[in-house]
Order: sequence, then C-alpha cells, then structure tokens
Amino acid sequence: MSLADLETRLAQDLAFLNLPASPWVPPRDGVLDVLIVGGGMCGLAALAQLRFLGIDNSFAIDAAAEGFEGPWETFARMRTLRSPKSLTGPALDQPSLTFRAWFTAQWGAAAWDALDKIPKPQWMEYLRWYRRVLALPVRNETRLRDLRGEGTLLRVTMNGPEGPAQLLARRVVLATGRSGLGGGAVPSPLRGLDPRYWAHSADDIDFSQLRGREVAVIGAGASAFDNAAVALEAGAARVDLLIRRASIPAVNKLTGIASPGTELGLGHLPDDWKLQIHGYAAAQQVPPPRHSVRRVSAHDNAYFHLDCALTGVTPAGDRVKIETSRGQFESDFVIAGTGFRNDFSDRAELSQIAPHVLSWADRPGFPLSQRNSNFGQSPYLAPDFSFIEKQPGMCPALAQIHCFNDAAMLSHGKVSGDIPAVSVGAKRLARAIARAFFAEDIEVHFDRLRAYDTPELHGDEYLPADHLPNRA
Ligand SMILES: Cc1cc2nc3c(=O)[nH]c(=O)nc-3n(C[C@H](O)[C@H](O)[C@H](O)COP(=O)(O)OP(=O)(O)OC[C@H]3O[C@@H](n4cnc5c(N)ncnc54)[C@H](O)[C@@H]3O)c2cc1C
Repeated sequence: MSLADLETRLAQDLAFLNLPASPWVPPRDGVLDVLIVGGGMCGLAALAQLRFLGIDNSFAIDAAAEGFEGPWETFARMRTLRSPKSLTGPALDQPSLTFRAWFTAQWGAAAWDALDKIPKPQWMEYLRWYRRVLALPVRNETRLRDLRGEGTLLRVTMNGPEGPAQLLARRVVLATGRSGLGGGAVPSPLRGLDPRYWAHSADDIDFSQLRGREVAVIGAGASAFDNAAVALEAGAARVDLLIRRASIPAVNKLTGIASPGTELGLGHLPDDWKLQIHGYAAAQQVPPPRHSVRRVSAHDNAYFHLDCALTGVTPAGDRVKIETSRGQFESDFVIAGTGFRNDFSDRAELSQIAPHVLSWADRPGFPLSQRNSNFGQSPYLAPDFSFIEKQPGMCPALAQIHCFNDAAMLSHGKVSGDIPAVSVGAKRLARAIARAFFAEDIEVHFDRLRAYDTPELHGDEYLPADHLPNRA
C-alpha cells in the first residue's frame, strides 16, 4: 500500500461513517463559530473533531510557519519521541489516521516491526500529513494579540502576514501548548541575568557558539538531558548537570495507571483526588527517557552533580560564577531545563481575561503552601474546558474560552497535552461545544423543525378504512 492508497482508504472510512457530518450550526452574519489558537497537535485534533461533528465554520491560527508548529522542529532536542510507537495520538479512532498507518503505508510492515521509537522529525511529518489529508484550515504566521468579550461574543485581535485583523467568534479554544498560559519556568538566580549568559531550554539556542565552552545545565527532566546532549554533540568542552535531587527520578508513575479508565475518569474525580494524584506524580517527577540519559553519559566530559541545588549565578567577566548547595564553580553558559509555568503575566494577549480566571489556588481548601506553585496557578476549568470566573458576572466571556492545553491537566487529566489521550480530550471538548451550540440556537432549531416539510409519505401508500371498497 502507498500513501496515496492510504489516503483513498481514509476517505472511504470517513465516508462509511458519514464524516464529516453536514454543517448544522445556524450561520451568524460575520461571526466565526470556533477559532482555535494553536495549530499544533492539540489544535489540529480539536479542529478535526469539530469538523467531524459538522462544526465547519471554524479554523485555527498559529504564530509559527506552516509545518513548524509546536516544539518538534524548534526546541525539542531529543532524537526520538519518548512515547511508545503504538500510541494512536490524534487519530480520533480512525485506524487510517494513525501514525502506524501513515508509517506502514510508506515503509512497510517489516520497517514498522523494526522501528523502536518514533524519530522526532517523522512525528512532525506525520502531523503535517494529518493536517493536509483532513484539509484542516490553519492560518500560519498569525498570532493572537488580544482576546476579550463583546456582548455575547468574543472579539479576537490577530496579527498575520497581512497585518492586524479582528474577528468575532462564538468560541475560542486556546490550544497554545506547554507554555500556553505562561512561559518557561526560570529558577530565581537566573531571573534578571543578562541573556548572553543563559537560556531556557525552549529558547532558540545557537549551540555552535558553545563549541569549546563550558556549559551548566539545570534540571533532571527530559529537556535538561536533551539540551546537555546537543551541547556535548556541538563540541562543548564540558557539561555540568546540576540536579537538585539525590538521585534522578527513575519511575514514570502516571504510566502505571494509564488506561481508558484514567483517561475518562481522572477529570471527573473530586478535587481532592485530582490534587492527590497529580501532586503525588509531580512529587515523584517524570524521569528523563533512558535513551536521553545515555546520550549524555556517552560523553566523558559530562558530569552529573546530584543533590546539587542552584542558589546563585553572577557574571564573572565573560563567564558566570555558579553557587550551589555543594559549593561554587565557574562556567561559560547556563541552560535552564526547568520546564514551564502557568503564569498569565507572560501572555500579554490574555491580559484582558487573566485577572478574572478562577485558579486552583482560589478554591476553598487549596493548600496554602502551594498557592504560588504551578498547581495553584492552574486554571480551575469547567467540564467543557472553559475558564470559570473568579467573581461571577465580572467576565462572563470566560465561559466561551476553552483552555485546551497543558494547563488543563489538573482539572481534566492528561488529555490536552501529551500524545496518548489527545483524542479523548478533543472529543470531550468538541462534543461539549456542539451541545452548547445546539442549546444556544434552540429557537432556530425549533423553527427549522416546524418549517421542515419534506414528505416521506406521498399519500398514495394507503387508504383510510372507510375509503376501502367493500372489504368484508
Ligand atoms: C521538548 C518536548 C518533547 C515532548 N515529547 C513528547 C513525547 O515524546 N511524547 C508525548 O506524549 N508528549 C511529548 N511532549 C508533550 C506534548 O506532546 C507536546 O508538547 C505537544 O507539542 C503538545 O501539543 P499542543 O498542540 O498542546 O502544543 P504545541 O505543539 O506546542 O502547539 C501549540 C501551538 O500554539 C501556537 N501558539 C501559541 N501561542 C500562540 C498565539 N498567541 N498565537 C498563535 N499561535 C500561538 C504555537 O506556535 C504552537 O505551534 C513533548 C513536549 C516537549 C516540549
């Protein structure tokens, strides 16, 4: 089978399932039904599922150039995905839409059997194909600049290749990725330090500049190791990994309960269970992939400093003096592989809505000690992923803005960030929007119901008994 054959089969599969459904949402003049901000994996899955449900007055925008959405071809510096190759990701239950189908159509079943992990560039290629084969409308190089309520609608300001533009939408979905509601988490000693001395792992780093230089990498997650590896491969003189813990976390706890039950059930648990489960998993931390660690330890100029917390960084000429819980040393450059945070202050485009968003820290009983943590700052979302107002009545538009990115994890479980359950999340989101549109337009639907007059019977199928000729 070739890729063209697969595309034919996919078209047939969708036709057998009557997908996409015919459009049914009553059009409103000059109003978009759904705008998705972000054309990465989550945005594409959400857009596809909306269109499957017949909500086709919708499109996505993405700040990135076409084919370069998300981290895969930008700051993701691993060679392969962490995930097992068999995950069905954004396929929305369509066998012909899976990575496996796409891969096998091109390289065959034997190559699939031989494949260990999915090479990172191939995952991006697959996402490009997914977008093309479903003809998903995404406007690239278009950035959300402002979002606010206007009457019963949302006013969106964007900036694209043709300059600034505005539109009105009934719903906006923020599929804006890991840093979607904030930015990189930066350890306090690095804040305010001249950027020539340091970078966050999600920054655009010119690794060729690190050749022959000494680099310190903060953190023990996947990104810390991937950045350390790239620095070493680029010819860094030495790389020191500063790891706060006494040992590198080894067990990816949440995979231990991965199941349809978790995907469907975690987001419906009482708050204290959500906090307990995610709190436990976060405290245990997700280990870096084994292949990422080995990629670093293969270099004899890589040094793993355990039990070594960063306490200070100060410029020392062209170098920096690094202070840690285990003493001080000098290096040329620091990379913070310290993850992301939910902090609206990094997102000017959300400044109109941000002050009104209810967060987990605002909830009664939320542990005081965690108020400023990433969990505390996570938005407390409704079952349809929409934001909830801190003070009812202050920003009703929030009920029409859906947070379909990593920041939804504490409310919904891991269904809007990682590959495994993104289809579960996309369906939850799109079905909720379809339900809401139907209810909001119920009068139009009732008028359509009354106006509908296509007969199934034409009057010649039967005769009333008293018209029958002499039947005994
Ligand atoms: C380095 C790295 C490696 C990962 N590896 C794996 C893995 O192996 N397995 C796994 O399951 N998960 C992995 N993940 C987690 C997850 O799968 C990815 O983060 C994935 O990209 C999430 O998809 P997304 O659509 O939510 O976000 P993204 O793919 O990041 O897409 C978000 C998009 O939103 C756009 N955007 C943001 N703000 C705006 C704005 N204001 N206006 C317009 N556009 C905007 C961005 O340009 C971006 O293209 C990894 C994450 C990272 C960061």
